[in-house]
Amino acid sequence: MPYHPLTDTDTALADGRADASSTTVLVSRRETFNAAHQLRDPTLSDAENERLFGKCTNLHGHNYVLEVVVTGEVDPVTGYVFDLKQLSAVIWRRIIEDVDHRNLNTDVPWLEGLIPTAENLALAFWERIRSELPDGSLRSLRLWETDKNWAEVGDRV
Ligand SMILES: [Zn+2]
Repeated sequence: MPYHPLTDTDTALADGRADASSTTVLVSRRETFNAAHQLRDPTLSDAENERLFGKCTNLHGHNYVLEVVVTGEVDPVTGYVFDLKQLSAVIWRRIIEDVDHRNLNTDVPWLEGLIPTAENLALAFWERIRSELPDGSLRSLRLWETDKNWAEVGDRV
């Protein structure tokens, strides 16, 4: 019988690893910024805002942490799924340069009309960077508002 080398897939299956074609590699970049906001719907009365948002109706600040996860094939030349310095540059150019040390209610044109909850910010940030990244590569975006609270937007898998 002629010599027949195992393929990578045969080897992976034979030694109990997952089928290589179903394996996903994720990489992530974390950035931080500081911003002020208030949770307030300008169309509602002060009393109604107070009822909905409590003390968050007052202007206050957060040290936000933004984590962006991308996926793709590992490039055989670089060994990267995505150059994280490039991902950082996209996050800075499309989001952080506009929001850092700003009032999110009044200073950022592309947030106009939004109540700047972590959920709404995460959705807006997702839209700001998705078009800048290769199709289908953006997997999730998580915005930490405090050590205890985050909101995440993800692509349905
Ligand atoms: Zn807040």
